Order: sequence, then structure tokens, then C-alpha cells
Amino acid sequence: MANAQHGDRAAWFQGGCAQCSGTGAAPLRAWRMLLLGAPGIGKGTQAEYISAYTGACHLSTGDVFRFAKNSGGCLTPSMQSALEFMKRGELVPDSVVIDMVRERVRCIACGHGFLLDGFPRTVEQAIALDALLTEAGVQLDAVLSFDLDEEKVIARLSGRRTCPTCKRTYHITGNPPKVAGICDHDGAALIQREDDRPEAIAVRLRAYHKQTAPLIDYYAAKGLLHSINADGNPEAVFGRAREVLGSLVPVG
Ligand code: AMP
Repeated sequence: MANAQHGDRAAWFQGGCAQCSGTGAAPLRAWRMLLLGAPGIGKGTQAEYISAYTGACHLSTGDVFRFAKNSGGCLTPSMQSALEFMKRGELVPDSVVIDMVRERVRCIACGHGFLLDGFPRTVEQAIALDALLTEAGVQLDAVLSFDLDEEKVIARLSGRRTCPTCKRTYHITGNPPKVAGICDHDGAALIQREDDRPEAIAVRLRAYHKQTAPLIDYYAAKGLLHSINADGNPEAVFGRAREVLGSLVPVG
């Protein structure tokens, strides 16, 4: 497996003509994957492990919205309205998300591969992704779908805390920082994301069941789906993901 550095993901976060730094030579084998699973199931944490393991760049649409929100820069009207949807825990309209990913199609075509996290979230987005993959001349190797009982998902989401600086995530009981409320990595005070508050969690889970769960059938029908039990600590879950990856031959 490649274990490449993939720079600062500037092209993904900022779009436009931003260039990533420190990506190095493309690996011989680029992995192109996407992650599915209810919000709070631990996709972001698994994405970090899988990205380090395969060298594929972690591309999260939620991170792009959070980056825009925290950038302090001037936001386009469509980004402003997207952030309102996000704050309420609702899905951002397909047209906005699809346009945003289309503007970043070079991240899909990138020779380092990718690990999409949080996109697609609707069948319409999945159809748009298929078109982008064709345009970029690449194919998906695998869709990793994480499964967990709903009450455990709610417990994970409500206990999650995030570092506003480095974006690392913790859990108040399952994966606590060494000092309560403080990021181990950079000492910043941890925060609870607005959309991890109880009222937003209920909305997000409803949106998941109605709009995102149908993607499981969509990718199963393409023969790309691999289900992974997401119970247990992050290392145990990653161990299962690694077994799945080990059984796959990347499409290339
Ligand atoms: P995440 O970090 O993936 O849980 O995303 C946080 C929030 O960003 C979601 O609750 C949505 O409001 C918004 N969002 C991120 N990705 C998408 C997407 N693909 N489609 C619609 N909304 C999205």
C-alpha cells in the first residue's frame, strides 16, 4: 500500500486555482473510494486511517462547508445559504453541492486517488458523481459502508467534540483527549459542532434514512458495496476496513 503525504488539500478546500502543497509523486496505485454511513458513525476518523493507509486524499464536502464558514472571507450567496442548511442539520440542496464538487473535479482526477466522505448523499448526487468520474476518466474501486445501531450512532454524535484548529475529533467517553476539553495535538479548546446538538442530530438522521440510505442499494447494484461493522473502537473498525481493502484489487 502507498503511504503518501497528500499535502494540505488546498485544491479541495478552496477550489478555484488553489494548488495543494507537498503531494509528492503520485503512487503507482491510486485508490478511489467513497464512504457511506449515518452521520456520527465515525466516517471522518476512518477516513483519516484509510487515507494514511492507502495514500488516497480525504475529500469531505462537510469540511469544505466548515472551511468556508471559518475562513472569515466573503461568502458567495449560494455558500451563505448552504451554511444555513448545514446549521439546521439539513442537507444542502443537490445543485449547490454538485456544483461545488464539479468545481473541484481535478481532485477526482488527481493521480493520488481519493476517499470521498459525505458525498454523494443522494441518488441525484451519485448520478452526478458517475458523470464526473467519466469526465475525469477514472473508476471507483470500492464503496465502504459503515453500519451501526441507531442508539449507538446518537451516543457517538452527541459526545463528539472537535478541534477547531486541526479538525481532529474526540469523544467525551469513547475517545477522550488527555486533558478534558483540550486538543492533544495543538492545545486548542474543543468545541461541539452546531450540527452535533440534539435538535440538529434528529434532522440529520432523518435526512440520512430518507435520502442517503438508498445509496446502499445503488452501489450494491454496481457490485462496489462493502459493508463494515462500525461497532467498537476506531482501531477495531479500521482493522475490518483494512481486511476489506486487502481483499480488493484496485481498478487502476
Ligand atoms: P458532514 O461533515 O459530512 O456530516 O456534513 C455536515 C453537513 O454539511 C451536513 O449535515 C449537510 O448540511 C452538509 N453537507 C455535507 N455534504 C453534503 C452533501 N453531499 N449533500 C448535502 N449536504 C451536505
